[in-house]
Amino acid sequence: MIDIEKERERTGYSGKPQQWQFGFDLAMSIAQKAESEKCVWRETEDGIWGTECGRDYVFDSYAAQKPSDSGQYCSNCGKKIEDVPFEDIEHE
Ligand SMILES: [Zn+2]
Repeated sequence: MIDIEKERERTGYSGKPQQWQFGFDLAMSIAQKAESEKCVWRETEDGIWGTECGRDYVFDSYAAQKPSDSGQYCSNCGKKIEDVPFEDIEHE
């Protein structure tokens, strides 16, 4: 989760005019929301990844081991990928 207060310090926005801070806070709240929205990809025992947004993907086993290896965001809905490999599902 993005810590707005910490980011303000880190990026030097602390102490800047109120108008700037307002814009900064707005951008940060949008980033926070985007960060919290995830698309969960679950792997089946056949190695097919079913996405939360309703797609199925199969990966070349030599290229990527899990969806987030090849890209951070879902190619269908654009949300951040949270992958749940098959072995993890088994232990739940
Ligand atoms: Zn998706």
